[in-house]
Amino acid sequence: MTVQPTIGSAAAAFLARKHGLFIDGESRPSRDGATSEIFDPATGLKVADVAEAAAADVEYAVRSAQAAFADGRWRLLRPADRRRILWRLSDLIDLHADEIAELETIEQGKSIGIARHVEVAGGAEFVRYAAGLAMTVTGNTLDLSMAGPPGVQYTAYTRREPVGVVAAIAPWNFPFMIALWKVAPALAAGCSVVLKPSEVTPLTALRLAELALEAGVPPGVFNVVTGHGATCGAALASSPLVAKISFTGSTATGKIIGRAAMDRMTRLSLELGGKNAAIVLRDADIDAVLPGLMTGAFFNQGQVCAAASRIYVEAPLFDRLAVGLQDAIGELSVGPGLDPHSAINPLVSSAHRMKVQSHIDQALGSGAEVIQGREGPNADGYYVRPTLVLNPEAGLPLVREEIFGPVLTLTRVSDANEAVKLANDSDYGLAASLWTNNLKDTLDLIPRIEAGTVWVNTHIPLDPNLPFGGFKQSGNSREFGIGWVAQFTEEKSVCIAH
Ligand code: NAD
Repeated sequence: MTVQPTIGSAAAAFLARKHGLFIDGESRPSRDGATSEIFDPATGLKVADVAEAAAADVEYAVRSAQAAFADGRWRLLRPADRRRILWRLSDLIDLHADEIAELETIEQGKSIGIARHVEVAGGAEFVRYAAGLAMTVTGNTLDLSMAGPPGVQYTAYTRREPVGVVAAIAPWNFPFMIALWKVAPALAAGCSVVLKPSEVTPLTALRLAELALEAGVPPGVFNVVTGHGATCGAALASSPLVAKISFTGSTATGKIIGRAAMDRMTRLSLELGGKNAAIVLRDADIDAVLPGLMTGAFFNQGQVCAAASRIYVEAPLFDRLAVGLQDAIGELSVGPGLDPHSAINPLVSSAHRMKVQSHIDQALGSGAEVIQGREGPNADGYYVRPTLVLNPEAGLPLVREEIFGPVLTLTRVSDANEAVKLANDSDYGLAASLWTNNLKDTLDLIPRIEAGTVWVNTHIPLDPNLPFGGFKQSGNSREFGIGWVAQFTEEKSVCIAH
């Protein structure tokens, strides 16, 4: 039996509470009293029951958000006041960082270090960035081109107004930080929000709502509904009172939501899946490539939309990279996320573990050379061995589909042209990395790679100031960057005759 490292008293106290829906500044049970169970991926044991919202609960939350928007309790604050309150929220996140990180690890399975320093500390930085942008939402004054009637002049300008109620629908891989990527810019713009976290990781979203209230976000402005996608999520996405849907999740769900949104012209941003390639040229510095791609591939067990999952390496470097990756994978310690010395932690759920494992089994059956790291410490946790597949057939589902697990393929190519061709041979286009010190190759290849982000000699850094989003079926929008908050506004043109 493996002993789970313990958590602090604040996280333990939160887990022991009843977890209702967060509507109008209060925690409430679902109307029919339904709940669903939350499990610790490291042990497979239940850690909490959380209210399960049905359509009527979602409607109640959306009406609460709409009422808050209509009376202007948040929308009509000066941007500087919204900024101040969001800064207070970021400080409260820092103050409660250990508690939030432990809750995140308990519900998601991830490393406590990643939870603490990436999700929570990083999440607070994204809030600060969005808060600052509250002050930058501006329109333009315009000189018109067409002549008016004699003696009439026009003064024209544009203004940006918050779009209304935002449905924020988030996935389970970085539940706290991705919730903030939606909630923070929406609030900075003056919108009201209904957040729906993933049904497997709702706890930190509920804690976030409490902190937002404490920071000064008025009741009703930020609500959280917990529940399953096909019921709670679908009700939220099809609500006529929702003005914009900000969705992060799989491409399949994004298409369903897109169809619902199109019916009502609901504004829509989709941040979807990826099948991200790394291209390693023959001159690359192998001492940088190895740790860079180990992190790029296995960070958060590969449950990262931008994770490196396909490496294409020029033939002269193939053997060294294959041996280096094999050694590095063999050294990865596998254990619970609360153990800071474990490099690989369990996947988020039993169902997801089975999906990832079935892809590995298929690769093993295909005759490809498969190299695997260590087993998990117990059979009840949702562990999958870190896995490297050498030269898989291009048609294998493992090569084409998003696996979202600790699985990496390494393919030998004859030159950069073949690498780019294979990298682009995907329905996805989220991110890619290029590993070379040749300036001409770098500048020639970047425009040819079909991806929303191209990293050079690194893989995975995200930053509030760097727009992030996908080409092709990886999405239709960008998060972050100076235009981030303005995406939660409508542009209104004003023309005054005088
Ligand atoms: P998912 O699509 O299964 O679920 C995402 C969210 O949508 C969850 O809250 C879920 O309950 C909800 N949902 C499911 N069906 C719904 C429906 N019919 N109507 C409304 N909501 C519904 O995704 P997941 O498995 O939680 O997350 C993993 C996926 O997220 C991967 O594909 C990953 O690449 C993607 N992702 C993308 C980014 C990005 O920025 N592009 C970031 C993180 C994760």
